[in-house]
Amino acid sequence: MKPNMRRYSWLALWLTCSAVGAGWLATNRLAELRADFDTDARIAHRVLSQRMAQHDAILATLALLQPAKGSGDAERLSALYPQILEVLQRPEQETWPAAIAPTLNDAEATSRHTRRAVLANENLSSGRYWLVLAAHPLSHGLLIDLKAAMPWGEWPMDGAASAVRATLVHAGASFVIQQGRPESETFPHWRWVAAKVLASASQPLELVLERPLTWRELPLVAMVSWSLVAALLLAGLRNLWHQRVARQRAEELLRVGQVARLNTLGELAAGMAHELNQPLTALLANTQAARRLLDEKPPDVGTARDAMAQAAHQARRAADVVGRLRRLVERPELATQVQPVALGSAVQEALYLLEPELQRRSIQTEVIAEPDLPLVQAEPVALQQIIHNLLMNAVQAMELVSPARRKLHLRWQRQGTQALLVVRDTGTGITSEARARVFEPFFTTREGGLGLGLSLSHSLAEAMGGSLLLAGSPEGMGAEFHLLLPLA
Ligand code: ADP
Repeated sequence: MKPNMRRYSWLALWLTCSAVGAGWLATNRLAELRADFDTDARIAHRVLSQRMAQHDAILATLALLQPAKGSGDAERLSALYPQILEVLQRPEQETWPAAIAPTLNDAEATSRHTRRAVLANENLSSGRYWLVLAAHPLSHGLLIDLKAAMPWGEWPMDGAASAVRATLVHAGASFVIQQGRPESETFPHWRWVAAKVLASASQPLELVLERPLTWRELPLVAMVSWSLVAALLLAGLRNLWHQRVARQRAEELLRVGQVARLNTLGELAAGMAHELNQPLTALLANTQAARRLLDEKPPDVGTARDAMAQAAHQARRAADVVGRLRRLVERPELATQVQPVALGSAVQEALYLLEPELQRRSIQTEVIAEPDLPLVQAEPVALQQIIHNLLMNAVQAMELVSPARRKLHLRWQRQGTQALLVVRDTGTGITSEARARVFEPFFTTREGGLGLGLSLSHSLAEAMGGSLLLAGSPEGMGAEFHLLLPLA
């Protein structure tokens, strides 16, 4: 993954975490508010229904007791029940007061028929209505004031401060019993509504409760805090992850062997110097002795011949040491360890390991991969070492040119029965004298270079049945190496 993409995926992860957490907090708060609203709605419905039942009970009592008209008994009810504004009685031979007679007559007729109290004057907006019960000899009418009828003592909400708007609705008219939150402060379409007709056969008013919501009711502080906490947690996690990746990379680099091999090579060189020193010193001593013996007058040819035989023996010993070293480097057992390997993945892995080096030196990489390239026959670690060496050489060669020119080009493709990996750089290039010698052991032009990378890579490639070549490129225009490996 490109570093940029990685950054975006962390960002996306943070956004997702924030959204999920904030969403959960908001949902929880809304669920709490909703539960409160539902409870309030249930209580409000119950207490209002009870109040309506009280009116029915008063009328029923009047019809039963039949207090004499004009005795003042009925009128006293208003003192007891503030919502009863007026009590009217109509003996059979009289009529209701003229102003309201039409309304009450109809209601009384219905009441006589249904034998229960009936609502009259249905214009609820004024907050007043008549309740009529037909009886013998006196029919009764109560004028009820809704405002005074409100059971504020048992009402579940604070009538002045509550956000809930409460309305009683009947026959198209409505009466507001609680204002609720002003419209300007609420979201236009974000509200809960609970509507239920009161449990009273005589006064079937519908109680409508509307609970508007505003964004300020969301737990914004908690939501923002969660988002910050998530950012901190993810930043920590990202840091840990980066550290882990860096550590893995370093371990892997060590494994691919740049550092480890240098150490081994150092030891090897020291050991070799030690082992060669002895036969070479003896060789020198023997040849010098032989010359001295031959210079004598007369020359001591017999002893000189012995000294020369000794010298030859020491020279063979030295050759053996060199041969042992060569066998060590060539690793002939590699041929038996090859297995099908994906060349592209090996290159990508090497690139991944060197990513920090490439970035630090602002080297642009261009990768052209042939899709569906078959697997190659290789020993994975040896292949990794070759690619790593080629890339490291390219990086080092480009350190010496201006950053704007640095470009690493990698291409892999099929070539007959082989796979070809091209590694091209825009570094200093290789002079024509050096071209002939780059694969020689210990040939180096770099200060502190060992001159073993290419020779080792060359022998590893051949041991795996492939080859490593230096392609022709104009002098000073960078270098191009070709690695060929048999397809699996
Ligand atoms: P080292 O890197 O230790 O010198 P190598 O065997 O890897 O040993 O390389 C041998 C020499 O080949 C280098 O010193 C350098 O002169 C030359 N060389 C290798 N690769 C490149 C390259 N990509 N561009 C220029 N010169 C290179």
